Amino acid sequence: SIPKGDKEKGVNVQVILRCRPLSDEETKSNTPVVISCNERRREVAATQIIASKQIDRTFAFDKVFGPSSKQKDLFEQSISPIVNEVLEGYNCTIFAYGQTGTGKTYTMEGGGTRKTKNGELPTDAGVIPRAVRQIFDILEAQCAEYSMKVTFLELYNEEITDLLAPEEPKFPVPEDKTKKPIALMEDGKGGVFVRGLEEEVVYSAGEIYKILDKGSAKRRTAETLLNKQSSRSHSIFSITIHIKELTHEGEEMIKIGKLNLVDLAGSENISRSGARDGRAREAGEINKSLLTLGRVINALVEHSGHVPYRDSKLTRLLRDSLGGKTKTCIIATISPSVYCLEETLSTLDYAHRAK
Ligand code: ADP
Ligand code: MG
Repeated sequence: SIPKGDKEKGVNVQVILRCRPLSDEETKSNTPVVISCNERRREVAATQIIASKQIDRTFAFDKVFGPSSKQKDLFEQSISPIVNEVLEGYNCTIFAYGQTGTGKTYTMEGGGTRKTKNGELPTDAGVIPRAVRQIFDILEAQCAEYSMKVTFLELYNEEITDLLAPEEPKFPVPEDKTKKPIALMEDGKGGVFVRGLEEEVVYSAGEIYKILDKGSAKRRTAETLLNKQSSRSHSIFSITIHIKELTHEGEEMIKIGKLNLVDLAGSENISRSGARDGRAREAGEINKSLLTLGRVINALVEHSGHVPYRDSKLTRLLRDSLGGKTKTCIIATISPSVYCLEETLSTLDYAHRAK
């Protein structure tokens, strides 16, 4: 699905579009549907009525998943090949981009439990549990010698929160030594690292699911405490794998691959809500990260010399996994409802331009 020309030039950015179904409530209230998906032609059409005239706009993507698409199909068709690249020693990133409520978290994490039945993941399981499963299945089948670590962080207001940090004490303790500063540092080699970030070494898929649940729960708590913070924050779940291999000459070699799974902040234009002061800053910062991400991807696709990684924390954090010999996949999510049309059109424009 990746255009040949791009592949030859070494750029691998894939944009896929997913439209969620109407919710039960939307169905009950007869919400008009204005989106139609043509999976075979890989096109999405949005219908607008302007001055009682019907206007259809069509957008093309590398892949389109309509309202009845299954988690399993999206994963197998679009994500599974990327996971294989990670195991070959590449850094890859998968983004979920879209308005709040369109299915970013559903697509990345999925609904319900991650418990398996007869070794099968539940039908609702999203990209992350499926990727984790594939990684362990392959490593075990190869009897590979490997080690793996995961990190899970949230970026809010250009500030990093570690979702895997041990619980903070309920009351401030004198001279709080438990609080670790989280800072993004230059490593002097053109890369960055996050000082104080918890890295958990993992040995099984089950352990990763537990870590994921813990981090997601922390994210949800923050959401209720801080007024829907999660819709304004980016979360980055990263898996780094070291695989020991023997060369033909019998020498030991370590292959390192990294997979970043990013649930982006809601793309709705919160600056439009007349936000002031703190809220305004917040809106600006989020848009900055999302806008910079779009610019970085455009620069990579168009091979324009300057790639503005440094313009936002999100792109600085992901620098080693965007561009060069990496694979990037953007899953743009939309709602079919007429009431979301304006935001849907801006998502279609953003994702379309990211090509
Ligand atoms: P976001 O993370 O973009 O804010 P969510 O993932 O929380 O959105 O999705 C909003 C609601 O819609 C959730 O109840 C979710 O289960 C449901 N949903 C989203 N996408 C789908 C889908 N493709 N199929 C079924 N339900 C979905
Ligand atoms: Mg979400």
